[in-house]
Amino acid sequence: MDSIVNSKRSRAKSAAPAQPERSTREQAEAAVRTLISWAGDDPDREGLRATPERVVRAYEEWFSGYKDHPRDYLKRTFEETGGYDEVVVLRDIRFESFCEHHMAPIIGRVHIGYLPRNRVVGISKLARLVDVYARRLQIQEKMTAEIATCIDEVLKPHGVAIVAEATHQCMTTRGIHKTGVTMVTSRMLGVFRDHAETRQEFLSAIGLRGAAQVANGGG
Ligand SMILES: [Zn+2]
Repeated sequence: MDSIVNSKRSRAKSAAPAQPERSTREQAEAAVRTLISWAGDDPDREGLRATPERVVRAYEEWFSGYKDHPRDYLKRTFEETGGYDEVVVLRDIRFESFCEHHMAPIIGRVHIGYLPRNRVVGISKLARLVDVYARRLQIQEKMTAEIATCIDEVLKPHGVAIVAEATHQCMTTRGIHKTGVTMVTSRMLGVFRDHAETRQEFLSAIGLRGAAQVANGGG
């Protein structure tokens, strides 16, 4: 008779990490002036005078992912499967992100696969989900895992597979200057992790011939 004792738990909100206070627009513009000066140019010369303002406006767009909550978003937009029980694959979702080590662009594509249980979402919703995570300071491995976890937790599918392929401009334009290098990361959950056949079905669908290399990158 004790089975309902804990049924009335308080709905504890998961504690969000404390956010440091956000800088003002003026502070952000001043910081850009400082960087221009540090680069060796004169922030007061005509061509550069409006640059801090433009850069800050660009930042609002590039980093717009911080104001969105992907979980809430996905929760509002799923639909019933209507009996569909095959793997859903979305390939080549382009993304633009910035590496958190150099704040240099990461440009690439994300491929999403999932085997729905009761819920599916539209293509545009998944593309938007990728954007929300991409439009933050990122490392590719983390972004790949975040997308997988979000889909897994909200849609509760039988499995999720995410593969991201991208070039990192901190690698191609500076440092070791290796052009043409693509980084591939993956996260496989549920049936995609447990069943080689399902995983292979996904990897073939996205056209990854070197499937074996990423197959176990589910970490
Ligand atoms: Zn970097």
